[in-house]
Amino acid sequence: MNESAFNVVIVGAGPAGLGCALALQEIGVESLVIVESERVGASFQHWPEEMRLITPSFHSNPFFATDLNAVSPRTSPGDLFGAEHLSGKQYAAYLKAVVGHYELPVREGCRVNKVRSDLDGFTLEVYEETIKARFVIWATGEFSFPDLDPFPGAGLCRIAPQVGSWQRIQGDEFVVIGGYESGMDAAYHLAARGSKVKVLSRGEPWKIDDPDPSVSLSPFTKERLARIARALPGSIELLGGREVIEVTHDGGAYRIFTLDGDSFVSSQAPILATGFEPGIKRQVSSFFEWNQSRPVFSEVDSSTLYPNLFYSGPSLLHRDSKFCFIYKFRARFGVIAQEIGKRLELDTSSLSEWKKRGFLIEDIDCCVDCKCEVETSTVEEAVL
Ligand SMILES: Cc1cc2nc3c(=O)[nH]c(=O)nc-3n(C[C@H](O)[C@H](O)[C@H](O)COP(=O)(O)OP(=O)(O)OC[C@H]3O[C@@H](n4cnc5c(N)ncnc54)[C@H](O)[C@@H]3O)c2cc1C
Repeated sequence: MNESAFNVVIVGAGPAGLGCALALQEIGVESLVIVESERVGASFQHWPEEMRLITPSFHSNPFFATDLNAVSPRTSPGDLFGAEHLSGKQYAAYLKAVVGHYELPVREGCRVNKVRSDLDGFTLEVYEETIKARFVIWATGEFSFPDLDPFPGAGLCRIAPQVGSWQRIQGDEFVVIGGYESGMDAAYHLAARGSKVKVLSRGEPWKIDDPDPSVSLSPFTKERLARIARALPGSIELLGGREVIEVTHDGGAYRIFTLDGDSFVSSQAPILATGFEPGIKRQVSSFFEWNQSRPVFSEVDSSTLYPNLFYSGPSLLHRDSKFCFIYKFRARFGVIAQEIGKRLELDTSSLSEWKKRGFLIEDIDCCVDCKCEVETSTVEEAVL
């Protein structure tokens, strides 16, 4: 078995892993590798064709308002593609272009199967190789880990990564389970092609009026729902308070049972959009402390049990706020790089640019105040 050793190993070549790598490159960390089980931007490659980033891209970088989907201060996916809402393939191509331009050391097709902690760091097992690392950044995201077992019979349902394209699946009537972004995305694309869709949801996310897009539906999705309601009234039926408890299939039809005693029948496999699990939970849960099934992070985004193991990505939590968008978790790329730089006794002053541009936000109290000072109630009704 081959053995190699690095100062820093980053697991996962999505926006989180690559963004951290760029911040580390900025301060001159040389002994670094990014290991990726598939290929750069794999999660985005698996998105259904019609799916778009809900966060808009706009190249406003020179004015210190970096494109919301950029992984570094000087790149803009919006500028690269001349598009505001990029497809998964476009975003993966942006990530690939970043890897090429900055010559990031990514090893594709290299899946980490096991991690051990040693006296001087960690040992990662990949196929026929062990990699030693002083620091590890876990950045495997959530999209590779859909929650496939939320209720009995969930395995009979279809999930977005299996779909390929909403245009090409058979049927005219569908049931979507889950009313957040993924469920709404499926409902929108199915309705737009002329199908009838029922959305069953435990709560009523479409009614939540919270300024934080991690809590309520994004403006992009609210706009799409309004557009489809005008163009094809009744094509999407939103049914809140319908917690699905079981799905069965009797050969001909699927039956979907809800907690309130109701049931729905569908000739097509229901679309399961009940969410994803953190990679850290599925892969390295024993390396992190957990509080009521939520991961606990130090003030520099490391494990509280293993200080040289960091996490970057959408499962990051601070002050009860989830950093689940790129523009949120990228605010910590510089923090992680700065901390690793300090421990390696490197000069980290070159991160000042990252700080100015919102990629090194140390005061995480920023994340608890998402409130917009102007409320909807103050806007004239005619405009809404
Ligand atoms: C459906 C959906 C839509 C979203 N839309 C948006 C949006 O519009 N805007 C936004 O800002 N955020 C969005 N998000 C949040 C989203 O999670 C992130 O933007 C982004 O994918 C997270 O980046 P990441 O690098 O942490 O994870 P990923 O992009 O998932 O990258 C993780 C990488 O790790 C690799 N990997 C996994 N296990 C291993 C292993 N054992 N060894 C080696 N490599 C491994 C995977 O192959 C993958 O390439 C969305 C999320 C979902 C699920």
